[in-house]
Amino acid sequence: MTYTAVIVGGGIAGSLSAIALHKAGITSVVHEAYDRSADHVGAFLTLAVNALDALRALDLDLDGVGFDTPKITLTSGSGRKLGELPYGTAVSEGAKSRTVKRADLYRALRDEAVRRGVRIEYGKRLVEAETTGGRVLARFADGGTATGDLLIGADGLRSRTREIIDPHAPGARYAGLLNTGGYARGVSTGSEPGTMHAIFGKRCFFVYTVDPYGEVWWMAQPARADEPAPGELAAITPEEWRARLIDLFRHDRGPAVDLITATGEIFTGWNTYDLPTVPRWHRDRMIVIGDAAHATSSSIGQGAAMAIEDTVVLAKCLRDGPDVDSAFTTYERARRGRVERVVEQGKRTGEWKALGPLTRGVRDLVMGLAMKRMARTGDDPSGWIYDHHLDWDAPVIGRAVGGRP
Ligand SMILES: Cc1cc2nc3c(=O)[nH]c(=O)nc-3n(C[C@H](O)[C@H](O)[C@H](O)COP(=O)(O)OP(=O)(O)OC[C@H]3O[C@@H](n4cnc5c(N)ncnc54)[C@H](O)[C@@H]3O)c2cc1C
Repeated sequence: MTYTAVIVGGGIAGSLSAIALHKAGITSVVHEAYDRSADHVGAFLTLAVNALDALRALDLDLDGVGFDTPKITLTSGSGRKLGELPYGTAVSEGAKSRTVKRADLYRALRDEAVRRGVRIEYGKRLVEAETTGGRVLARFADGGTATGDLLIGADGLRSRTREIIDPHAPGARYAGLLNTGGYARGVSTGSEPGTMHAIFGKRCFFVYTVDPYGEVWWMAQPARADEPAPGELAAITPEEWRARLIDLFRHDRGPAVDLITATGEIFTGWNTYDLPTVPRWHRDRMIVIGDAAHATSSSIGQGAAMAIEDTVVLAKCLRDGPDVDSAFTTYERARRGRVERVVEQGKRTGEWKALGPLTRGVRDLVMGLAMKRMARTGDDPSGWIYDHHLDWDAPVIGRAVGGRP
């Protein structure tokens, strides 16, 4: 079927939806709330092998962005190595995860969408949308409007589209962890570039990797049971973060304190959230995808991956379905089970990072044993996340589209 689509949000899911729809022969315009200068969001993320597999279905690779991250090591705060394994089992021979700066990723995806003929409009914040006569009308905060045969809400965790589809939709759930991080220069960690090192510290989780030029990219996730009030984290200065983090890691072995000390500007902190079950993903030719539908705790490193997979599956459903409604229904059948399972696993992983002194030792023991078993048997309990192949040409069928649910 040939449609025109209004896409709300020009992040990962929005830009890639436009690319996927274009490949399916569907015209779309992306409407992004911020202007271009909002690109410079500081942090980085790792796209696991399933994310890269989904990108390949759209004829995309990220060779010019970030660097390969083939391996992850796990260590306790006392310096005991708990294990080392491939960063996501490979869906195809030689596949490797890739770590990218968020701003570079957004820019690359938007540039690619534009190169393929997609129009992106900036400064367009969705405020309302309604369906009349089989068309969707979207209204933006600047007074502008847009119409299409369907509307895709790729507007992230605080999605306005989600509220429009269902005013009773749940909001984001605080996951008990804060985040900050930075980029350190001039510290020799002895690590080979591209290996991700996760340290389950005595008081805080820390992760770092060295880029091919010797810069060390790191993040810390201090546990905090109650959700900080709006504005509280933004008010913490980089120097206050530095002092707090050095205090949190001073009893741990590993390079955390040196890296924090050698970092120019530590990121403004932010909370971790997820969104376990949004009962209504679509209504009247409007649908939510990506974080807007199923945000995943950053602890599992799969939020962007799930958003990317969504765009491929939705475009296939629209390409193959007889109408928008049945395409949305097929899409939900294909995606809900998988994404909710990932959100649940992300929650459990996050809880492991926030344990107190009594349970920490048990965690390290269990993790060490699990790593040994995986190394011995090659059986990764998280394999179902990574071994997920999306085939652009395969028809959309049943509950699993081109891969395991
Ligand atoms: C600390 C941290 C680390 C992470 N690490 C990883 C990782 O290693 N691997 C991984 O796969 N995932 C990771 N994630 C998750 C990942 O960043 C998200 O899942 C992903 O960005 C979701 O993409 P999205 O396009 O759905 O939403 P977003 O990327 O948030 O994009 C939403 C877009 O919509 C726009 N928008 C919002 N409201 C409106 C509106 N009303 N009108 C118009 N536009 C609007 C926003 O400006 C934004 O550009 C991490 C997340 C965090 C917070």
